[in-house]
Amino acid sequence: MNKFEELGLNSEILRGIVDLGFEEPTPIQQEAIPQLLAERRDLIGLAKTGTGKTAAFGLPLLQLLDFESKTTQALILAPTRELCMQINRDLNNFSKHILNFRSVAVYGGASIQDQIRSIKNGVQIVVATPGRLIDLIGRKAVKLNEVTNVVLDEADEMLNMGFQEDIDEILSSTPDERNTWLFSATMPEEVRRIAKKYMQNPIELSVGRKNEGAENIEHIYYIVHARDRYAALKRIADANPDIFAIIFCRTKIETQEIAEHLIRDGYNADSLHGDLSQQQRDKVMGRYRDRSLQLLVATDVAARGIDVNDVTHVIQYNLPDEIENYTHRSGRTARAGKSGVSIAIIHMKELYKIKQIEKQMNCKFKQARVPEGKEICEKQLMHLVKRVHDVEINEKEIEKFLPSIQDELKELDRDELIKRFFSIEFNRFLEYYKKTPDLNVDVSQRDRNFERDPHSSRDRSERGEGSYRGKGSRLFVNIGSKDGLDKGKLLRFICDTTGEKGEVFGRIDIKGVYSFVDVEPDKMQSVMNAINGSEYANRKVRVEISGEGTNPGMNGGRGGERRSSYSSGRDGGSGGRRSSSYSSSGRDDRSERGSKYSSPGNFKPRERSPVAKREESKASWEGLMVEEEGKEKKPRRNKFKK
Ligand code: ADP
Repeated sequence: MNKFEELGLNSEILRGIVDLGFEEPTPIQQEAIPQLLAERRDLIGLAKTGTGKTAAFGLPLLQLLDFESKTTQALILAPTRELCMQINRDLNNFSKHILNFRSVAVYGGASIQDQIRSIKNGVQIVVATPGRLIDLIGRKAVKLNEVTNVVLDEADEMLNMGFQEDIDEILSSTPDERNTWLFSATMPEEVRRIAKKYMQNPIELSVGRKNEGAENIEHIYYIVHARDRYAALKRIADANPDIFAIIFCRTKIETQEIAEHLIRDGYNADSLHGDLSQQQRDKVMGRYRDRSLQLLVATDVAARGIDVNDVTHVIQYNLPDEIENYTHRSGRTARAGKSGVSIAIIHMKELYKIKQIEKQMNCKFKQARVPEGKEICEKQLMHLVKRVHDVEINEKEIEKFLPSIQDELKELDRDELIKRFFSIEFNRFLEYYKKTPDLNVDVSQRDRNFERDPHSSRDRSERGEGSYRGKGSRLFVNIGSKDGLDKGKLLRFICDTTGEKGEVFGRIDIKGVYSFVDVEPDKMQSVMNAINGSEYANRKVRVEISGEGTNPGMNGGRGGERRSSYSSGRDGGSGGRRSSSYSSSGRDDRSERGSKYSSPGNFKPRERSPVAKREESKASWEGLMVEEEGKEKKPRRNKFKK
């Protein structure tokens, strides 16, 4: 007997479940379904992503609604269009054997007229993003007066995305007698407030401990210099030949650039972010789902609804700005009972973030070493051995070629044949990884070096200046004394981020919200590449070549606004960053980009006009949420604290 039968679901629904191959309810389904069927109650379900929440609310909903009627009886709110589409898809699957079932998913970025038409045809369930629903309510295109059930899915995420007022408005537009079922991975204050204001005596279910990361996820971090992030990413991919990963970046620009770069370097990658049209997104997701893509580079928001089982790795190219996003990211792996790895590529200054995630998410990270060339070559070789071992032979087709193959290779004995066969691939990796450096930053070793090296940045930073005294080029840096910097701290930050010694830098002038640093001309580009996109005190750092001693911010003429032409940071903006560690920078990086695949060594960060830069800086991470065009996104909570 299918275990779902014991939950009290009717035969039409059970048939749908059997068709889907679900045999046993997940814990949240086990707990929620019988209670929701037993009495009309409000419910708060605290469960992380991937635990089967959709069926936990979807199945009882299907049993409770009246499908003879065409009126809208249930409203499901979800933060992103992907999630809306997925919920709608799931509901359609669950209800395969229910007559007259009708639902629609409505979200921004798609034709509102088509959505209005679908609603007019009569739907019992509307699955919506809050912004689009508000729009539809405003146009009187959706009637909510007969809604009996409202589901808030990923409530914490919707509030994070600034939909608080929209949710208030939507809930106020539905009948007071409705039941509200709220699901959330975490329970921050804002979610509690919604629960308190709009729910009555709710059943509270919690699957797993509060804020707990999935137990079957292994959390790992690598410490590298900021400029080595991209090289580290490639090594992770190379060391895991069967990888099927999502790589998280913070901005759409970075997402796009990393994906482009991976593609150029011969990897099977593509990007998913809010600038893509719905059609483009569907195409990328289709390729990822059917595994034509191995590496999906995505922003937090775009990846939110992704429900793909078997994701082996989640890689944080950059840690998320908000701690809670880590749960959402890592929850993309280890779904449906599988295990997975969540990797963070960090630089030294980000260690405190790892500690904060551990504390808040109740998970434990292990520091690991970025694989070195030798290890990668071995992994690749053994992977090939396994493929050879497991390959299916098409006897009929290969048969006719065997005599000539035998003839060509007749001088070679077994050992020789094996060596030669495997060398075809192995040589490529050996050659590529021959001289590549160790990318790991050894924290304790660094400290010892600082003490031994009289020219170390620590020494110089105590003097408060770099020691370079030649005719340097000046760099403008968008951080200054207002960020808590003095000369020593800035030098230390620059040395840490670039991996350069202090003699590369000269005079330092600290101003309020920006600074100037002299840099040895030869190092200018690599220093810029390494620093651009890094972070100081939660602020994106950006550098530009400055006219000597000129304050580029003065160009606009109004001192009070001088930051605007540079600012990519203080207001949470992050779009102004350019490709950094993976650009044409580092000595080591270059060799890693070079020979293995296509030879992308001539990659240059795209130059953008000041206007474009400003546009991008306005588009902080929330700019990716195109599904809710025109919405002001509120600052998110739970930032990392130094
Ligand atoms: P959540 O909404 O909590 O993120 P989903 O409802 O999307 O999780 O479910 C995650 C995955 O698990 C989906 O692929 C879904 O089809 C699958 N799933 C859900 N419930 C079951 C079940 N009882 N048995 C097998 N697979 C399930």
